[in-house]
Amino acid sequence: MKYYLGLDIGGTFVKAVSITADGKILAEGKCDTGCDKGGRVMCDNIAALCAQLQAKSSGELAGVGAGCPGMIQSSSGTVKFAGNLGLKNFPLGYELEKRLGVPVKVTNDANAAALGEARFGAGRNYKNSILVTLGTGVGGGIIIDGKLFEGGASAGAEIGHMVIERHGEMCTCGRRGCFERYSSASALTRHTKFAMEEDTGSQMWTKYTSQNCSGKTAFEFMDTDRTAKDVVDWYIKYLACGLINLANIFRPEVIMLGGGVAAQGEKLTKPLQAIMDAEVFGGNDYATVTVVIASLGNGAGSLGAAALCLD
Ligand SMILES: [Zn+2]
Repeated sequence: MKYYLGLDIGGTFVKAVSITADGKILAEGKCDTGCDKGGRVMCDNIAALCAQLQAKSSGELAGVGAGCPGMIQSSSGTVKFAGNLGLKNFPLGYELEKRLGVPVKVTNDANAAALGEARFGAGRNYKNSILVTLGTGVGGGIIIDGKLFEGGASAGAEIGHMVIERHGEMCTCGRRGCFERYSSASALTRHTKFAMEEDTGSQMWTKYTSQNCSGKTAFEFMDTDRTAKDVVDWYIKYLACGLINLANIFRPEVIMLGGGVAAQGEKLTKPLQAIMDAEVFGGNDYATVTVVIASLGNGAGSLGAAALCLD
């Protein structure tokens, strides 16, 4: 029987999974990225990790997929630029193929996570889905008709840099008012801190300071504290704006939310769905778009990377 390896390359660790074509997990593992010693050392570490998984998987290794942060040219498997890994124009696919002896496919880590959710997670029953990850930034991936949409030179699907507030907050990308300046976990934390400092009587102060509050703080107090509720409402209003833009362009059957903030579950999806139902183009009865929480958590990236080899 054939099996496939999926790699989720992060700034600190590489996570790997070995799966069958129908997504059954045969083995899992992780290793230090070690990219401070350069890309080739990183590839040596990854090859050693793959050997461990191969030893635990019976059958024939048919392909390896890798999700890597940064700007990735998937056609050649080249990391054009990955600041977190210190890599520039690095032939990741080629270096891994040399070590592993099988074809290696590479995509951006957010795309890999979207493909993982689409194949094996919350999007598995749908042909069109979008994963939106609410973390330090806002990342995501777009699945159209069962296939990953990467855009020209595989540089598209940067949904976090869709402007939702012209003349809004300055973004790291150089534009103002990007989606991720309002809808990331960092944005939520920043707004919570601001709201606490404005309202010294808020219940949020009974447990947190404006220095140790997080993206969870406002949700924790939203039922009993007006300021906390206002922060949550502010956050959901902007998040809904971005999601409806995506819905109007791509009309996926499902939008899946991942990342730290997604742990809020229905506190997030219920009000988002209500705004979606009211505002999505043409109404939400025909061609319904449903907002759900992604189901694979941190496993989405490595599973999706393995799924790159399945098409
Ligand atoms: Zn931006």
